Amino acid sequence: MTTIISRATWDAKPWNGTPASVALSKRTEFFVHYDGGSPITRTGYAVMRAIEAEHLGNGWSGVGYNFVVDQAGNIYEGRGWNLQGAHCPNHNVTGIGVQIAIGGDQEPSAKALAACRALYEEACKKTGRTLAKKGHRDGLATACPGTKLYAWVKAGMPAGDYEAAPNPGGSTGAGSGSSVARYQVTINGLPYGYGAKGDHITKVGKALVKNGFGKHFTSGPGPTWTDVDTESYADFQWSLGYTGDAADGVPGEASLKKLLGTLPSKVTAKPKPPFPGKDKFGPGKSNSSITLLGKQLVKKGYGKHYTSGPGPKWTEVDRMNLEAFQRAQGWVGSEADGIPGPETWKRLFA
Ligand SMILES: [Zn+2]
Repeated sequence: MTTIISRATWDAKPWNGTPASVALSKRTEFFVHYDGGSPITRTGYAVMRAIEAEHLGNGWSGVGYNFVVDQAGNIYEGRGWNLQGAHCPNHNVTGIGVQIAIGGDQEPSAKALAACRALYEEACKKTGRTLAKKGHRDGLATACPGTKLYAWVKAGMPAGDYEAAPNPGGSTGAGSGSSVARYQVTINGLPYGYGAKGDHITKVGKALVKNGFGKHFTSGPGPTWTDVDTESYADFQWSLGYTGDAADGVPGEASLKKLLGTLPSKVTAKPKPPFPGKDKFGPGKSNSSITLLGKQLVKKGYGKHYTSGPGPKWTEVDRMNLEAFQRAQGWVGSEADGIPGPETWKRLFA
């Protein structure tokens, strides 16, 4: 018996309209899908919520697949056994559509394949017939379900020795339900865990290496969180005395603080205005770059000569204030002429 996480459990929105019912006797095919051209890093209930949002956005009743299988081997209910799907035109009545939640070149996990195969067996049992094994592209010209899953379907959906995941239970609603596998978390606005990207990931990797948890790294650490980061982080968690789920290699706030001292936070870099060119400045010139320069001088504490403004019309006061800023850079002579060049501009807006 295959365990399926119900719509109520993953907190589906009510159907938008009423999907038609389909008798099991009408089912003759089993379609495998993937998520699309890009790898996905969402896991757990978030997988369903993302599909739901997209399919509702298409104007559909809700998730169009009959079922969705994630990389942890969890099976989620979409249209289920008895409702018509929206996954492959002309095959939504005859076909049970199952998405394996990977994209692009992503490798399906053995658990996901096992869960999908178990679902197929269950479907055959329920319908009392051997359903045709198909990939989306067998019903429609599409890249779906990607080369890897399509090859798997064509090979007859081998599932090796793996068993489908046992009942994952899980509380209603919460995306990070404790018994649903989680790969990625957000701490202080930044993502950590498999697939997460950024300088802060490099920072974690380097700190792991520095603290003696680098043996898994054969290259890097780099800005993308890979399985190696997970393994290394798990070693670090073990060293803190964590066990079980607490040592799953996905950072928590407490362990991350211990590793880094302070938690990295999201920095939103302010875009710097490009240097508009020397010819925008000087006697007789009037434009918005002059106002911008003046305001920045004031902001940096070099506005003392202004008695009004700054404004768009170049004045001797602009020149004097900028000269003061240039002299403060240690510049003399023609380097401190009160007319901005690229270097002045760069330093002023740094
Ligand atoms: Zn598809």
